[in-house]
Amino acid sequence: MSALPAHLLPTDGRFGAGPSKVRPEQVAALARLAEVGDGRTPLLGTSHRQQPVRSLVGSVRRGLLDLFDAPDGYEVVLGNGGSTAFWDVATFGLLEQKAQHCVFGEFSAKFAEVTRSAPFVQDPSVREAAPGSVALPEPEEGVDLYAWPHNETSTGAMAPVRRPKGDPGSLVVVDATSAAGGVAVDLAETDVYYFAPQKCFASDGGLWLALMSPTAIERAVDLKDSGTWIPASLDLVTAIEQSRQDQTYNTPALATLVMLDEQVRWILDNGGLAWADARTRESSGLVYDWAEDRAEATPFVREVEHRSQVVTTVDFADDVDAAAMAATLREHGVVDVEPYRKLGRNQLRIATFPAIEPDDVRALLACLDHLLDHR
Ligand SMILES: *Cc1c(COP(=O)(O)O)cnc(C)c1O
Repeated sequence: MSALPAHLLPTDGRFGAGPSKVRPEQVAALARLAEVGDGRTPLLGTSHRQQPVRSLVGSVRRGLLDLFDAPDGYEVVLGNGGSTAFWDVATFGLLEQKAQHCVFGEFSAKFAEVTRSAPFVQDPSVREAAPGSVALPEPEEGVDLYAWPHNETSTGAMAPVRRPKGDPGSLVVVDATSAAGGVAVDLAETDVYYFAPQKCFASDGGLWLALMSPTAIERAVDLKDSGTWIPASLDLVTAIEQSRQDQTYNTPALATLVMLDEQVRWILDNGGLAWADARTRESSGLVYDWAEDRAEATPFVREVEHRSQVVTTVDFADDVDAAAMAATLREHGVVDVEPYRKLGRNQLRIATFPAIEPDDVRALLACLDHLLDHR
């Protein structure tokens, strides 16, 4: 493959779906909070039980309620371990007997596997759809928890967030790991909207956050009161109680919280979730329009309404080597556009999270044009 002319390159070459681009301003905030001297106490490297860090956690929690326009009584709960740990947290602390999972990619499959392998609940009901499409929840007798991803990051398919009608009392638990902060949502349609901060929130991994309805909190308390065994680090009621005091059960990564708070403030200052939603629509629209226009390329997700705003996937014709294009881009500092490893397609996956400049998406597409035109 040919080399890429420097003038075509994006100003920031990070297009990964997580970890994802961190804005320089977030890193500057870190440097500010690490400064010592002049009688000032830095925040980094100080106790998470003291006021400075608790204020930071409080700011994150308030900022998220504000950003998601949370209905009365919803709370922001957080703990360590990322979204993967939250699947265990939810299986111990939210699931009574039987879950229904919509599975249409790797992440949704992993949560289904967690409840399937748990010995203390029934096998889940699984509604499966081929990668690139979506499965939707259906009311079902005996199910007390409905689970699906807002955005299936492994395929770039986005599903609506809407309660299955006619099953009051059951919980709707949505994996919003890659959607939260970049896609509009009506939280009233969920009981638990959970995510990790390394995608739309442009921070580092390791933390899980959940916006929880009063019904979900009540379920967690009832389950714990029933006396069932819950490992301490996965105990949701402990996390709820700690979060109410702007703390976590065990030590969190402070840098992750600082960068998360910066990103929440940045989105709010720019106009909130509606602004972020419009920005990711613009960026993803550029990719899909480009893929529709180029003869060698096709959007992987056929249904337009299910094409993700935040993680785009583009298939290439057999005579194009997508992996070689990704490798050439990487040599030029444009990284992480490889497809999800287990999907095994001749594909590129390009994240269009809020931190990514639409103009950088334009530049990336110009680079792809160049590579395709100079094969
Ligand atoms: C990235 C991702 C996860 C895994 O998040 P971790 O924080 O690495 O555990 C889960 N679900 C979705 C939809 C994701 O995009």
